[in-house]
Amino acid sequence: MTAMNELSRAGAAPWARRGSVFSQAGLARPVDWASPHDLDRLRASHARRRLGKPLVPTSVASPRLGDELFARLLSYGTPQEIDRGDVLFRPGDEDTDLIVVARGSVEVVRTATANVRAATVAVVDAGGFVGELNLLTGQNVYLLCRAREAGTIHRVSPVRLRQLMATDVELSDIVFKALIARRELLQRSTAALAVEIVGGARSAAALALRTYAGRQRLIHLWFDAGTPAGRAMMESSGLTEDDLPAVVMPGTTLKQATPGGLAEKLGLSYRRSSTKPVDVTIVGAGPAGLAAAVYGASEGLDTVLLDAVGTGGQAAASSRIENYFGFPFGLAGADLTGLAVLQALKFGAQLASPCEAVKLDTGRNGDLLRLHLQGGEVIDSKAVVIATGARYRALPLERWPDFEGAGIYYAATELEARGCMGSPVTVVGGANSAGQAALYLAGRGSTVSLVVRGPDIAAEMSAYLVDRLRAHPRVTVRCRSEVTRLDGGDFLEEVSITDRTTESTQAQQCSGLFCFIGAEPATSWLTGIATGDDGFIRTDVQLNDDDLGPAWATLRRRPLPFETNIPGVFAVGDVHSGSMKRVAAATGEGASAIASVHKAISTFV
Ligand SMILES: Cc1cc2nc3c(=O)[nH]c(=O)nc-3n(C[C@H](O)[C@H](O)[C@H](O)COP(=O)(O)OP(=O)(O)OC[C@H]3O[C@@H](n4cnc5c(N)ncnc54)[C@H](O)[C@@H]3O)c2cc1C
Repeated sequence: MTAMNELSRAGAAPWARRGSVFSQAGLARPVDWASPHDLDRLRASHARRRLGKPLVPTSVASPRLGDELFARLLSYGTPQEIDRGDVLFRPGDEDTDLIVVARGSVEVVRTATANVRAATVAVVDAGGFVGELNLLTGQNVYLLCRAREAGTIHRVSPVRLRQLMATDVELSDIVFKALIARRELLQRSTAALAVEIVGGARSAAALALRTYAGRQRLIHLWFDAGTPAGRAMMESSGLTEDDLPAVVMPGTTLKQATPGGLAEKLGLSYRRSSTKPVDVTIVGAGPAGLAAAVYGASEGLDTVLLDAVGTGGQAAASSRIENYFGFPFGLAGADLTGLAVLQALKFGAQLASPCEAVKLDTGRNGDLLRLHLQGGEVIDSKAVVIATGARYRALPLERWPDFEGAGIYYAATELEARGCMGSPVTVVGGANSAGQAALYLAGRGSTVSLVVRGPDIAAEMSAYLVDRLRAHPRVTVRCRSEVTRLDGGDFLEEVSITDRTTESTQAQQCSGLFCFIGAEPATSWLTGIATGDDGFIRTDVQLNDDDLGPAWATLRRRPLPFETNIPGVFAVGDVHSGSMKRVAAATGEGASAIASVHKAISTFV
């Protein structure tokens, strides 16, 4: 029976009888988003997170659905009668439903942890719906939902929600924006205490965990173990220094936590419920992979996107991208890739991270390519897009590995800059990424030495950056110079810079060395894929007849645009030979490759 039929049988819609309550539907009665009591510790923390501008206005968290739209929303669900106290979902549940309240009332509760009492996050009356972004990301439930008053709910399953997103533009717009707005509100609320991360402010392991949580937009709260709030949190959770970094969640504490362990607990690792092969698996979720995922999923391909670290790639490490088409005022790389992640999810792509591809079988098994993941799982798919980008080069200096993440960074974003605020830093490199980082760090109050090996900073850097660097009072450009020594205890404290013109060396204080000296293609996990001398992957017209094996004779075609020497395997973005190493070029290649994926798949069947 459809929701409409149900309504006409019942006469007036039950929520309509509640008059204005229905018209205020959505998350109809959100209680205090931030409970002052629970947030006392958060406020006490000196290193609390700075939250960015919301992606959508928070007002859309509680949309007002008219009768006709609400009935349409109900029609995607399956009705269920509920009694007061019934639990509709609880922390740890997988694949929860969107809960639409037709009659009665339900509440969403953050359950108690060792440190904090339980708290009601929201109350939803008839006419509203319960759900946030984890409905699309696949993250396990971290809150509890139970009935406050008896009534009727309609459960919209993940599959039905995807159908809604794909077919009902008006409704999907409202629901999607509400899910995003709720995630933003929850991050600012007492719900953030459902996932607490504690660690050292300058610990590399804690930074990895926080970077992952930030890029995945996880609802969480960060505690610096060096602050009174952090110590109090550790004490109440029974944690010692040896346990750091740690994550405390309802019913679980992860000690010496890693992004992989956290993802596993939250249900964000790769898992597949269907036994059907995937149409296209995309390896690498930087701009190129994300663009491929958006276009693949939006064009109806069953799309899986994996990343060894987290979404965003190098672009997420860029504090400000000023040359991306359509953004004259520039934008943070993480904002751009964060929006692309939402877009890919909206179209139904499945994202998993951290999830590293360790091998690709290049011999097709029937119609399928087999990808092996760290941890032993395999994914069989009709096509594979390699978008693994490039990895940063390091300087061959003693103690370099000791200081990676503990004073040596390959990105200059808020997270890295905070540890060096106001202290002298060194930026190494002569290209745009180094110039941007130097300006960003100087803008955050650090005095910056920009160390360039070549004789002229203008050789590789855009003129607008060169002018700004030369004019900045806190930036010193040191050409024909190299960093030749690193010193410090657990953290980097000092660097020595050698001027190659005079061969004189000077040691100077340095709380952060930001290294931007280029990158190597992330292809070490691949065999049998044709590359250039520099290791970057060759495709289509870059391939010779000698590169093409017997499989091509059977196919009776040449490699399509972005197709490698292995039929059905594509390479896009920075990993691609001759690529421009720019965000716009990477996204263009990722999107364009999908046209070839469609054609290739059709030649295998
Ligand atoms: C600090 C900085 C500033 C920059 N500024 C600009 C700028 O202003 N303008 C501009 O146009 N460009 C800029 N760039 C360059 C731009 O970011 C890159 O060209 C772009 O990100 C390349 O995209 P990609 O998707 O090809 O690769 P990447 O962004 O490198 O992404 C590759 C992804 O693949 C993942 N991966 C690697 N191996 C595996 C594996 N085996 N399994 C699973 N996943 C894997 C990685 O974790 C990574 O997330 C900047 C780069 C940096 C570092």
